Amino acid sequence: MSASVSRRTFLGIAGGAVSVLGLVACNSADSGTTDDASAASDDTSGTTYIIATDTTFAPFEFTNEAGEFVGIDMDILAAVAADQGFAYDVNSLGFEAACAALESNQADGVIAGMSITEERQESYDFSDPYYDSYVCAAARDGGDYQSLEDLRGQTVACKTATQSASWAESIAEEYGLTITYFTDSDMMYQDVLTGNSAACFEDYPVMAYGVAQGNGLTVIATEEEEFATPYAFAVLKGQNADLLEMFNAGLANIRESGEYDEIVAAYLEA
Ligand code: GLN
Repeated sequence: MSASVSRRTFLGIAGGAVSVLGLVACNSADSGTTDDASAASDDTSGTTYIIATDTTFAPFEFTNEAGEFVGIDMDILAAVAADQGFAYDVNSLGFEAACAALESNQADGVIAGMSITEERQESYDFSDPYYDSYVCAAARDGGDYQSLEDLRGQTVACKTATQSASWAESIAEEYGLTITYFTDSDMMYQDVLTGNSAACFEDYPVMAYGVAQGNGLTVIATEEEEFATPYAFAVLKGQNADLLEMFNAGLANIRESGEYDEIVAAYLEA
């Protein structure tokens, strides 16, 4: 489905904002309000949900060559919103910033390749999982670092507040790693390509996609047990139960209809 882009700006959050109106049967793209156009659907009450996400986390959310903000998460969100008849705006903030927006009530939900973790479950309510993931380390293809052993005593790059950073932190002492933190995956990869960091830590599906796109890196190690956690949509604990319920219902419907598989295939089999 296509979503129309509205011109809403979201006060209080700077930069990288992308607004998408995902309301079905609504031709008005100018305000993002639902007016009477939504009266026909019984599960909206004029709410336009603010959904926060990461900036560059391909294939889940990223800006494509045409300058459009796309990805598996964006398409799942659009399909679920169309199925359930709710309107939303997307704010592309970065992973940690998206979590902060949720926690400060500046966003109603987060979809950002976010792993379900026990710690996060104390503050967030998660939807049903929609994608399995685990973590990996990657270094420059053809470079000196080909294994965790090779990283002993080196500086590595991590993205703040992520699962892959947690893995790096858990082995930092054992391997004598010094961690440099970035807010953005692309900046982390650049730090490895320029040689400042020996390796970076990232979710495997994201790194595998980047490697296949020729990002110049190669996976040198994986951790598939302790940090293997599926992705889910999140709301703040005890809040937006309706949105979470719609997400789960819509997700079940798009899995059933085959639309979920089509979305994933469109990115991974292209
Ligand atoms: N899946 C990882 C996490 O939840 C990373 C998410 C991201 O960087 N967007 O911590």
